[in-house]
Parts: sequence; structure tokens; C-alpha cells
Amino acid sequence: MRVLVTGGAGYIGSVVTAALLEGGHEVTVLDDLSTGHEDAVPAGARFVRASLHDSAPVLADVRPEAVLHFAAKSLVAQSQEAPELYWENNVGGSLALLEAMRAVDCRRIVFSSTAATYGEPDQVPIPEDAPTRPTNTYGASKLAVDAMLTSYAVAHSFAAVSLRYFNVGGAAYGVGERHATETHLIPIALQVAAGSREALTVFGTDYPTPDGTCIRDYVHVTDLAAAHLLALPAPAPGEHRIYNLGSGTGFSVQEMVDAVREVTGHELPVVVGDRRPGDPARLVASSARIRDELGWAPEHTDLREIVTDAWAFAQSRRD
Ligand code: UDP
Repeated sequence: MRVLVTGGAGYIGSVVTAALLEGGHEVTVLDDLSTGHEDAVPAGARFVRASLHDSAPVLADVRPEAVLHFAAKSLVAQSQEAPELYWENNVGGSLALLEAMRAVDCRRIVFSSTAATYGEPDQVPIPEDAPTRPTNTYGASKLAVDAMLTSYAVAHSFAAVSLRYFNVGGAAYGVGERHATETHLIPIALQVAAGSREALTVFGTDYPTPDGTCIRDYVHVTDLAAAHLLALPAPAPGEHRIYNLGSGTGFSVQEMVDAVREVTGHELPVVVGDRRPGDPARLVASSARIRDELGWAPEHTDLREIVTDAWAFAQSRRD
């Protein structure tokens, strides 16, 4: 298939681009490089530097049969301080993209949604029909795009899939996580192991969990990429499907610290800090729907494997 990948210079977008190329697809990456890296775009993909707001001429030129839409702002704290960035980029940008798709009669899309659309869950594991009550503007902006896709499916015969990511880790195809502003647990812990940061602050050890630290559902980026390839042809015109992308298993921050210590051989100094506002104690996906409907089964569920691959990538480049 001829596909356009927005955000293909970012972590997840570049890994999925590599997987698409391996699957024989023809890929053009559209990215404004606001947070991505041009050298992360896999060889074999065409690269166009443009924002979502200026995507119409790119779509008119490429004439894709499908779009995989990763481009977004994704920092929770920033979304609380500067919500306009999230409404403009995530919501306004997505609207511009959908209109550009409609103009060239491209109606198939896979969208990167998030577990942050659910907010504080009543029920864990979280099913897709759980209430959506995002606790930050980032989650609200992604939920707005999910709603946009439902209405474009109904009114304009789009075939759409929203994949709600839980916590993604690991590296593949030589691509891994490289953020100028790093907020995520695994890369921060690895920065400590690499000596570029003194200690890891654990945000709260008094949660109602067995060891007192927060529990999250970590998915290897290779398994995440496989889900995108399964999702791409799945919906019929007029259909918007929503799938959680988590392994269904939870690991605590303490278990992650232990895994990083084991993999890196570093003592990994830890400082206990306050809870981070808005962090639920336990976020674990029910992944029953994507397993049943698409036959997706995560293969790299060992925390040590996720950390090992992320560590190998971090050591391969120190920037
Ligand atoms: N966390 C932590 N210290 C850090 C970064 C994260 O203790 O420096 C915790 C955070 O409170 C959460 C878990 O690690 O419980 C995963 O956080 P991350 O930001 O990686 O992903 P999120 O679950 O927020 O999407």
C-alpha cells in the first residue's frame, strides 16, 4: 500500500515506518521536526518536512491509500501549562489532515490515541468501553480526535482505527526513544545508568499497590508496530474501531528499577519524591478486543527484554 506516516521522525512513528517498509509498503513521512529527528526516518522512506496544517499539498502529491497518524504534542505537564499548543496541533492539525485526506479521497487512517483518554479508571484492566474522563489536556485532545474519527467514519465513510497506547518501551530497527525533554521512566532510568543523570526520582511510594509504587502496562515497540500493521486493513468504510494497546500485565516502578539494575549492572540510585499530580495508581489495559478481533499477541512481554533493547539503543548513541 502507498501510505503517509505523520510523525514518522519520532520514536514510535519511525519504528512503525521501518515495519511498514519491511512489509513491502511504500512510505512517505511527513514531520515538522518539532520533536522528531530526520535521521530517525528509516532509509527507504521519502521524507517531507511539513506541519499537519500544511499537509494538503503533500497528500495531493503523494496520493496515499492510507495514513498512519502519529504526529502530536505529547507532554502531559506542557498540555496543562500551554493547552493551546494541544488544541492547535493535536486537534486543529488532525482536522486539517482529515480534510486533506478527504480532498484526495483517502479515507483509511490509523491514529495514535492514548490510555490518557480514560483518566482515573474505575476498573482495571481497562476495557475500551470504560468511561473516558481525561485528567489533562493531552488526553482530552486525543479523545477529541477519536470523536472526530467516529464522525468522519459515519459521515464521510472513513475506515478508521484508534490505537490507545499504554506505556511503550524498547527499541527496534536501530530506532529508540530520544526526547529533548525526557519525562518517561525507562529513558530517565537509563540516563542514570549511563551516568548523565545522578539519580532517579520515584514519584510516590505510598500508592495502594503491593510495593507502594505505581503500576503501568509496558508494551515493546516491536509489538506495538505489529499491531499497526494488523490494524491498517481491518476496518471497513464507515467503521471506526478503538483498541487498547497494552500487554494486559502491570509492572510497578520498583519492578522497573530492579529490571534496569539487572540489565545495566548499575546500582541506579533512587530518591523517593512526591506523587506526580494526576498519576493513577494502576493503569493496565484489557487487550482482549485487539487479541480477539485482530489476533494481536504481544511477544516481547518480559520487562528485561524491553529494558535490554532500550539500553542497547541508548548506548549506541549518546545525544
Ligand atoms: N515515574 C517516576 N519517575 C520518573 C518518571 C516516571 O517514578 O522520573 C513513574 C510515573 O510516576 C509513573 C511511571 O513511572 O508511575 C510511568 O511514567 P511515565 O512518565 O514513563 O509514563 P506515563 O504512565 O505517565 O504515561
